Amino acid sequence: MLQFVSLPQEMPEKRAVAERRADFGEIYRAFAVERAEQQASRCSQCGIPFCSIHCPLGNNIPDWLKLTAENRLEEAYVVSAATNTFPEVCGRICPQDRLCEGNCVIEKGFESVTIGAVEKFITETAFEKGWVKPNLPQRERSQSVGIVGAGPAGLAAAERLRALGYQVHVYDRHDRVGGLMVYGIPSFKLEKHVVSRRHALLEEQGIVFHLSTPIGAAPGETPLEELRARHDAVFVGTGVYRSREVRVPGVGLGGVVPAIDFLTASNRRGYHEEPGDDAHLHARGKRVVVIGGGDTAMDCVRTSIRQGAETVTCLYRRDRANMPGSLQEVTNAEEEGVQFTWLSTPEAFLGDVDVTAVRAHRMRLSLPDASGRQSVEPVPESSFTVEADLVVKALGFDPEPLPEMWQADDLAVTRWGTLKVRPGHFETSLPGVFAGGDIVRGASLVVWAIRDGRDAAAEIHQWISARAEKNLEAAE
Ligand code: FAD
Ligand code: SF4
Ligand code: SF4
Repeated sequence: MLQFVSLPQEMPEKRAVAERRADFGEIYRAFAVERAEQQASRCSQCGIPFCSIHCPLGNNIPDWLKLTAENRLEEAYVVSAATNTFPEVCGRICPQDRLCEGNCVIEKGFESVTIGAVEKFITETAFEKGWVKPNLPQRERSQSVGIVGAGPAGLAAAERLRALGYQVHVYDRHDRVGGLMVYGIPSFKLEKHVVSRRHALLEEQGIVFHLSTPIGAAPGETPLEELRARHDAVFVGTGVYRSREVRVPGVGLGGVVPAIDFLTASNRRGYHEEPGDDAHLHARGKRVVVIGGGDTAMDCVRTSIRQGAETVTCLYRRDRANMPGSLQEVTNAEEEGVQFTWLSTPEAFLGDVDVTAVRAHRMRLSLPDASGRQSVEPVPESSFTVEADLVVKALGFDPEPLPEMWQADDLAVTRWGTLKVRPGHFETSLPGVFAGGDIVRGASLVVWAIRDGRDAAAEIHQWISARAEKNLEAAE
C-alpha cells in the first residue's frame, strides 16, 4: 500500500473518440488485473477514511482496496457487496469526483485513488468467476411486501427484504426492470446487460416482478388501496418524471422535445425496438440544441453525437466552472465534438410548424449571493440565433402529482411535490406505506436510491415484526 508516492493515478483506457462516437458502447475499457492491483495499492489506508465518509453507502473502501492490492479478489467482492446492492453500477456511474474520489486524502498533492474503476473491476471479476450468487433467505416468512417501482430504490429494498424471507412483489409501469438505469441513462455510461444480469439474479432470489403494471387510479391501473390490502407493507420508489418546462414563446413547436422522451426512445432503440413514429425523437442529420447543464443534458448531447447529428450545441446559462453536471462528463462531451455556448439562455424557439432556430441571449455572472453561489443576469441587447431542427429541453425533473394520480388525498407531499416521510425515516403519512429514492429526495443519484432502498427495507422489517408481535400479544 501507500504506493501513491511513486505510482501515478491511471484510469482504465478510454476508447478513441472516433470509435466511441460511432456506437453506444461504454467508453472505458476494463482494467487489466495487474493494473487494478497497482492502482488499489496507491491507497494510504487512512485511519479516518474520508472516501468512505463521503460514499452515500459508507462502503468499506480501504479494506477492499487492500484486498485487491493483495489479489484476494473474492474477499474484496464480499466486502464490497456487503454494503452495496449494485457495486457494478455505482463503479460505472457514480459522480466519483464529487463523492468518494473527490474526498480521497491523497487528492491533496497527488491524484485520488481510482476507487470507482476498482469497484467495477472487483464486481466484474466476481461475475466472471461465478462468485455472485442470489442472496437466498435462510427462512421463509408468510408476510409480503409490495414495491412500486423497479428502479434502484425499489430493487435495493426488494433484495434486502427477500433476503430476510419476505414474499416480495415488484410492480412497474415499464416493461423492463431498472427504472432510469434502463430508460434514462444511456448505454455509453451503463450498458444494459449489466442491469438485466442483476434482474435475473433477483428473480432467482425469488422476487416476483409484475411489469407493465401501472399503479394508479386511471382505468386499467392497479389502485394503491388494492396493493395495501394485498401486502403487509408497501414501498413506493416511483422516481421523478415531470420534465421542467422552458417558458418561452415557441415551446409548442414540433421538434422541441423533453430530454426523457428523447433518451427513452434512444434506449429503446438499443433493445432493437422502434419507439413509435415520432421522427422528432432522433437526431440523425439534424442541428441539435440542448438546453441545460446537468448530467441529463450531457447525456442528450452525447446521444445526439452518436445518432449522427450534423451539429450539437449545448446552451447553458452559467459557465463551465459553475455547471451542475460532473466535469468528467463535460470533458467527455467536449472530446466527442459538442459545442458549448456558456452563459446563454433561450428567449424564443423560432419556426412555423417545426422549430428552425433558437433565439438566445447572453448572461453574465453577478456577485455571489448569501449561499456563496454566483447568480446570473441577462446582458442587455445580446440576442443571437442558433439554427436548430431539434431542441432538447433538459432542465431537470419534478415529481408527478401522486396524491392526485392515485386518488390518495391522505398521501402527504412536501411543497415540492415529493412524498413526505417521517423525519429520519421512510414511513409516509399512510400507515404501512414507505417511500424512498427520487420520489422523496427529488432528482438525485442511483447510489442514494440504493441507500434509501436498503435502509427502508430495514425499517419495513422492524415495522412488520413489531406489528406481528403486537397481534400475537393481543391474541394471547
Ligand atoms: P427511478 O430510477 O426513476 O425508478 C422509478 C421506477 O418507478 C421506474 O421504473 C418507473 O417506471 C416506476 N414507476 C413510476 N411510477 C409508477 C407507477 N405509478 N406505477 C408503477 N411503476 C411506476 N444518477 C447517477 O448516480 N449517475 C448518473 O450518471 C445518472 N445519470 C442520469 C441520467 C439521466 C438522463 C437521468 C434522468 C438521471 C440520471 N441519474 C444518474 C439519476 C438516477 O438515475 C436516479 O437518481 C435514480 O434512478 C433514482 O432511482 P429511483 O429508484 O428513485 O427511481
Ligand atoms: Fe464511490 Fe459510489 Fe462506489 Fe461509494 S458507491 S465507493 S461513492 S463509486
Ligand atoms: Fe485510501 Fe483515499 Fe480512502 Fe484514504 S481516502 S483510505 S487514501 S482511498
